[in-house]
Parts: sequence; C-alpha cells; structure tokens
Amino acid sequence: MITGGVMSGLGKGITAASIGRLLMNKGYRVTAIKIDPYINIDAGLMSPFQHGEVFVLKDGGEVDLDLGNYERFLDIELTRDHNITTGKVYSIVIEKERRGEYLGKTVQIIPHITDEIKRRIRQVSRTGGCEICLVEVGGTVGDIESMPFLEALRQLKYEESGNIFLVHVTLAPSTIDGEQKTKPTQHSVKELRELGLQPDMIVVRCDEPLLPETKTKIAHFCDVPVDAVISGHNAKDIYEVPLQLEAEGLTRYLMKAMRLFPLEERRDWKEFVNKMESVNDKVTVAIVGKYTVGSQCAEPMEDAYLSIRESLKHAGIEVGVKIELLWIDAEELEHGLPDQILKYADGILVPGGFGARGTEGKTKAIQYARECKVPYLGICFGMQLAVIEFGRNVCGLEGANSEEFGPTPYPVIALLPEQEKIRQMGASMRLGNYPAHLKEGSLAKKIYHSNEIVERHRHRYEVNPPYIKLLEEKGLCFSGTNGELMEIAEITNHPFFFSSQFHPEMKSRPGRPSPPFLAFVEAMKKERDISI
Ligand code: GLN
Repeated sequence: MITGGVMSGLGKGITAASIGRLLMNKGYRVTAIKIDPYINIDAGLMSPFQHGEVFVLKDGGEVDLDLGNYERFLDIELTRDHNITTGKVYSIVIEKERRGEYLGKTVQIIPHITDEIKRRIRQVSRTGGCEICLVEVGGTVGDIESMPFLEALRQLKYEESGNIFLVHVTLAPSTIDGEQKTKPTQHSVKELRELGLQPDMIVVRCDEPLLPETKTKIAHFCDVPVDAVISGHNAKDIYEVPLQLEAEGLTRYLMKAMRLFPLEERRDWKEFVNKMESVNDKVTVAIVGKYTVGSQCAEPMEDAYLSIRESLKHAGIEVGVKIELLWIDAEELEHGLPDQILKYADGILVPGGFGARGTEGKTKAIQYARECKVPYLGICFGMQLAVIEFGRNVCGLEGANSEEFGPTPYPVIALLPEQEKIRQMGASMRLGNYPAHLKEGSLAKKIYHSNEIVERHRHRYEVNPPYIKLLEEKGLCFSGTNGELMEIAEITNHPFFFSSQFHPEMKSRPGRPSPPFLAFVEAMKKERDISI
C-alpha cells in the first residue's frame, strides 16, 4: 500500500510504480490498483487541463494517468477495475441497497462502503495471476474524501496481517542553507497513525539525498527503523527512480520484511536506463495542441500529453536521440506564419483533441508538414484533421470539415451509425481495443511488420465513407481499416506522413516503443541528417 502525505504532486505514483518494478526485477508478477478518492465514476469527463491526460485501457476504461505509469513501469495491461473511485464504490453500494440486498439494515460507511472497497481490492489482486499487488491511494492523508479508503486499508492490514506492507511518501523541504526539515513528515505520519495506520517504510522526497542525521531523526519521531527511511531525492529522469531506490536499500528491506526471496535478477531495466544515458543526439518535435500556452514555451501542461511525451522518449532512446519538445499553441498558428513558427521543428505531431478551438491552426500545421515534406505524426484528432486538410487543399472540397463542429458542405469526418450502436451499449465513444487490418505494401505494414494490429481508441467521429474513394484517388492512403472504419491515413509520396484514428501512445513501453513513434523519430533523424 502506498499513501502520501504533506502535499500532492510528490511523485507518489512514480514511487509506487518503481517499487513494483523493483519487485518485478526480482522475478515477481506485479499488478497495481490506483484509488482516486474523487466522486467521479471515472476520468472520462475530466479535463486534461486540470488532471492531466485521460489514460485509456484495453477494455476501454478511462482512467487516471498513474495507470499509464503502472503499465509502462510494469509492462502490463490493466483494466478499469484497477482504478477505484468513490463514485464507483458508492454507486455499487447504492444499487445493492435499492435491490434490497442489505435486508433492511442501515447502510453505512463502516462496514458497507469499506467492505465494498476491500472486496474490490481483493478481487483485483486475486485475479490476473499476480503475486504482488500495489495499492496506491491518491490524494493526501487527511483529505476528507480518502477517509473511507484509509479505514478500509486499516481493516485490510489487520485481516491480512503480515502480507501487507505500507509505504508512506512524504516531503523533506530544505531551507536556503540546505537544512532538511522533518516536521512535515512527522506531522503527516502522526495523522496516518491517528487513523490507525503505522507506516512500515517512509520514502522521503527531497532535493538532495537525505542526510544520515535527517534519516535518524525521522526514524525516531515516526517509529520506523532507520533502514526503513528511504531517500527519494530528485532524479534526472523518472526511469532512474527504481535504480535510485534500489541503491537506497529499499528492495532489500522490503523483501526481508515480506519474507520474499529473489526468484531471478532481471537486468532489462538497468540496460534500458544505460541506453537512455548514452543518448547524445537530439531532434525537435513540434506538438501542436490546444492545452499549450504561448508558443515555444518550455514545458507547459506537461501532464495533458504525458503518454505522447513518454512514447517519444521511448522511441528516441531506441534511435539514440533526445527529444526536444516545442509546444505550439494551435490558436497562435491561426494568425501566424507556419514556416516561421515551425521552422525549428524536425517533425510535427498533432495529438488527440476535442472541440473547434484551435483546429484551424492545427490544420495549417498539417498543410505545412504535407507541402514542405516535414515528418508528420497525427493521432486521432490529428488524423481527422489530416483528412480534412487533404480534402480541402488536394481534393478541392472547400469548407470540408468534421460534423463535430456543426454543419459543413463536405462532412469528410462524420458521426456514423456505428456510433449509435456504441451509444445503445451505454458508452459515448469508441473506447479501448479494436483491431485494424493493414494494407499490403503500405507504410503501416512496414512499420508494424504485421497484417493485423490491435490498438486503443477514444473518439466519436470517423472518416465518412462517401469521401473515401475521392481521397484515395488523390493520394491519401487508408492503409489500416476495420471494416467500414478507417484506422490509418498515410501519404506515400512524402518522407513520413502517418496518422491514426487510434492512440498508439497508450501501448508504448520503455525498451519497446510504439511502432508509429519509432518510425516517426527515425524519419525525423534521417530527414535532419539529409538537410545538414
Ligand atoms: N474529437 C474527435 C472525436 O471525437 C477526436 C477525439 C480524439 O482525438 N481523442 O472523434
């Protein structure tokens, strides 16, 4: 179990995922549950602006981005049951109450809500064949919303005595002269203990490694052995965190406490990190999005496009280049000159998105990429806009657009009857895994090395069948299809122009980059080398 104190945004999710990875490196099968104490049933309707991207799972679950970190660190595929929210727990309990399943009893937080929380945790950790299950509680200890969850964990720790290990993640801020302050950690552990939970280990986030005297002090005041106080100092990159925690003695302590023996010594993570550290070249990618503020701003809205950034990173490490990101505000492009704004980009990426704002700027960027032969990767909305741009500027369909933005003379992107079926099944979007068949001789086939692929989706609108013939005649190739649905649009007469209706970024892993991202980064490097 992983809880957090002092403040949010400490990197509790990364710490938890790293702990999982360390156990996996010793040969254990690890899975993870993220508890989000908010009332929302899932992250589907939450703004990426506030909460970071909505991560999509294979079963179509729309979840917190931490689940993406778990999938990347543990190289697993999770399902919606791995994200427990207050909304999910309460709605089940209320449904049961309405069905009379509580036999007239007063339905209360203890035991009914806590029982439902425990039931879900047990069910998920027992299925899927894992040996260790990480349970991360979002938010900070002391939040009103997380109380029922912490109470459930307290009961679980008692009921499953000896098989549960609680890691509390806190912060030791430094004063200007470098003194590490322990009071916030002390207070937060005190708060946890008031709820009946005693941490077995404390991971302390800090700028510089924890000093021995800071560790001793925390150990004394928080009643844990000094070996169980782990320095979680800043790392250069999130993928270095597991190795850093290992060097701190976390794995040794944890395994001893849980009576676990190493089953094997996997070295793939270390090899991946070594590869990452030896990268000495770079390419620049312009991400044209709506959530960015001001063009060429360093790293705005980092979390809104988290999986895309990670996928570019995985691909870059494989190719041996560091990825520099240029965040381009789509609205700024609407009024500016693309060749000025995009001139430093080795490649252009248009990510997923919803709504009309910024679309004209994105379309301009795509036109620039197509005409000036700059490598282009379009994801979901980035494919729909590529089709719109091609329809308008190559096929002469003036005013072509998506039905998403209202009536248009040429709805090249439209709501298909398929969507109605989805709605009848209770969902509002095509979500999760769907297959695509790849065309012989296409770029898609070349980069995936396969005839049939499965990728994750999250969208409503589709390429409109009546326009497919015209678009293809003029040179846009739909190289990936699923029956009537167009999954990939590419242009052959171009160094690299690839766009997909699905989200390949959800399946990219360290050491196993997503094929379109890998091919995109390779193309950028190649084109840049030619132009030098
Ligand atoms: N807005 C588009 C749709 O609903 C694209 C969605 C996306 O990019 N995820 O089809």
